[in-house]
Amino acid sequence: MKETSAKIHEAIKLEHTYMTLPEKFYSVQRPEKVPKPKLVIFNRSLAREMGLDEPFFQSEEGLEVLSGNRVIGETIAQAYAGHQFGYFTMLGDGRAVLVGEYVALDGERYDIQLKGSGRTPYSRRGDGKATLGPMLREYIISEAMHGLGIPTTRSLAVVTTGEIVNRETPLEGAILTRIAKSHIRVGTFQYAAKWGSEAELRALADYTINRHFKEMIVGNQENIYLAWLREVIKRQAELIAKWQLVGFIHGVMNTDNMTISGETIDYGPCAFMDTYDPKTVFSSIDEYGRYAYGNQPIIGGWNLARFAESILPLLDKSRERAVEMANKAVSGFKTEYQSIWQEGMRKKLGLFEAHPEDEAIITQLLELMQKYQADYTNTFLDLTLGKNDTSELFKSLEFKEWFKRWNIRLMKQEQTKEEVEKLMQANNPVVIPRNYRVEEALQMATISKDYTAIEKLLEAVCNPYDYTKLDDFYINVPRHSGCYRTYCGT
Ligand code: AMP
Ligand code: MG
Repeated sequence: MKETSAKIHEAIKLEHTYMTLPEKFYSVQRPEKVPKPKLVIFNRSLAREMGLDEPFFQSEEGLEVLSGNRVIGETIAQAYAGHQFGYFTMLGDGRAVLVGEYVALDGERYDIQLKGSGRTPYSRRGDGKATLGPMLREYIISEAMHGLGIPTTRSLAVVTTGEIVNRETPLEGAILTRIAKSHIRVGTFQYAAKWGSEAELRALADYTINRHFKEMIVGNQENIYLAWLREVIKRQAELIAKWQLVGFIHGVMNTDNMTISGETIDYGPCAFMDTYDPKTVFSSIDEYGRYAYGNQPIIGGWNLARFAESILPLLDKSRERAVEMANKAVSGFKTEYQSIWQEGMRKKLGLFEAHPEDEAIITQLLELMQKYQADYTNTFLDLTLGKNDTSELFKSLEFKEWFKRWNIRLMKQEQTKEEVEKLMQANNPVVIPRNYRVEEALQMATISKDYTAIEKLLEAVCNPYDYTKLDDFYINVPRHSGCYRTYCGT
């Protein structure tokens, strides 16, 4: 026993700075022991990137850590609140435990969290557990997002626990090791604002700024909290613009699922859009389309308004002035988002500099894509590859007119054809985690215990801009994926 502990301590040095915050922000909580842990997938490239001891995590002792059967120092569940589908409620880590923080090779501090590790004081009626399918799903999609160049929490490993977890049917229990710059959410600040003192709120803000916005501390900042609010807004504008550009639908953009660091978090009912339609919703619980593809930027702004409200006492002593500052900052989100999104769209179309005509070119193309029910990813891919005769969209007269207009615009640029192609290739993925592919791979893993499809899918989606690999991941996209349904990952 002692020998194992020594080995673990030697292999991974963890810190626990979150525990310097007032106790209100967490509960000390050990993961529940599990009977028969087994490592089913491990992210070697992430381990290498972070400087984690790769062989250790694949050893018996490593499995003890990844399953939560052994901990290093005190482990905690974090407290937070949140607006879920517009309704405010107390939440917290109901099925996750933060095992510690690790300073990686890039000098950045990362949370190592076990998701599915048993009940905590915030579990409410839940069992604190997770099941294999949804944890593998989070692993695949989060790694795909990283491959696409989108800020996201990462997945280090999935272990099965040897337990049966009861959902609608009995399922295999599993734990995901999640790596995040932190798990501080808009909801963490809502919790502080609602149930904490001003000093506690300030402590959380200072901790967050110190951890994620260090560059703001230096220099002569007149109002650091206002500057910070603006930066949080900017990062979210960037993040959501990146989602939109690749057709990612988060599915449950509650304020507890929005990080302050600007990383995508909580992969539940998320999925990638196939046919272009702003109304696309995959989540079974999103009855009214609150979190539909086209609504994501609006909801982003709404969530940021909730964040700004939470930090009002820090912005100014006078509430009136604070509200004015907050309003002004939040109203900047839309412009910020629009300009980042437009720039991204220009790049997808091979346009280097902004031109007044671009907005119309972009809008027209999207309208035609919607009208002809074109596949979002493959339309841009075909344009990149110079293939323009394959679909209903490309065969239409309206599109041919648009195509001419776009080409005239391209020719006005001084860049060469090769440069245009390079720009488009860097911004239009060859492959995304198609819903049917993800389902197929998950079925093989969970039912047949065969991980070859997951490995193959991961290899493809982790290198989505590799134009040398135009294989069967690109062709044959089935229609009607609009009927695809996703579920919250419990
Ligand atoms: P999510 O939908 O994953 O963002 O979770 C929303 C809230 O429900 C969070 O507070 C979770 O910790 C909690 N939760 C989700 N699943 C479970 C579960 N099986 N047991 C306990 N709490 C859960
Ligand atoms: Mg959540």
